[in-house]
Amino acid sequence: MATLEIHDLHVSVEAENGPREILRGVDLTVKQGETHAIMGPNGSGKSTLAYSLAGHPKYTITGGTVTLDGEDVLEMSVDERARAGVFLAMQYPVEVPGVSVSNFLRTSATAIRGEAPKLRTWVKEVKEAMERLHMDPAFAERNVNEGFSGGEKKRHEILQLELLKPKIAILDETDSGLDVDALRQVSEGVNRVRDTGEVGTLLITHYTRILRYIKPDFVHVFSAGRIVESGGAELADKLENEGYEAYVKGGVTA
Ligand code: ADP
Ligand code: MG
Ligand code: MG
Repeated sequence: MATLEIHDLHVSVEAENGPREILRGVDLTVKQGETHAIMGPNGSGKSTLAYSLAGHPKYTITGGTVTLDGEDVLEMSVDERARAGVFLAMQYPVEVPGVSVSNFLRTSATAIRGEAPKLRTWVKEVKEAMERLHMDPAFAERNVNEGFSGGEKKRHEILQLELLKPKIAILDETDSGLDVDALRQVSEGVNRVRDTGEVGTLLITHYTRILRYIKPDFVHVFSAGRIVESGGAELADKLENEGYEAYVKGGVTA
């Protein structure tokens, strides 16, 4: 079983007046088959953690380690991370002009599997996965993220997750901007992937509502660039009732 280990991770971004530390010593271990929710107020650094794990060039690792089964993830290129089985669904995914969803998915699958999936079985696989997510078949021919609604972006993320079958999936604000039906369908997708027992999920969110549909094994409270408390699913209930105030002495900015 694959294990992602984050140890004492420190990350800075280049701000106007010099480098600014956003992550201040994150410790977290995610194993294949486990679902971890990371919850925290806006500006606490949750997305920074996601981008740093994905290898976004804007984020400078200033300390700590990230390993996948002992392999140094921080030394890997973005592509190598994907091939190693780390998947990131971006909070604000970029447009890929002129590339259809269908081609994008096949190219990604080819990169990750090391060989192109057979066209006929692949088309069927995509079609079935789209049906499960209640997506219009015409969606496959649209250009990636071009004019996607919030809900379409999220469904597209979960479609990738279902088809690419990573070892570790990082889902950043998968619940934001979804209506109730979309939230349920997207959550069902995450749960299908989870029920395979083969994906470790890091579910990053500001709101507790997605956790009514996806039951995390572990909940971590993120504040000012660190995990300040960890617990089981009951911690999410506590946060729902009490909010983040008890944990927050201001965001990173304070
Ligand atoms: P969250 O996802 O928890 O809302 P973020 O990781 O987006 O938090 O942001 C944490 C802090 O880091 C915020 O104060 C934000 O303004 C700052 N920050 C994040 N990315 C950058 C960047 N590229 N340049 C400057 N500041 C950034
Ligand atoms: Mg934010
Ligand atoms: Mg964020």
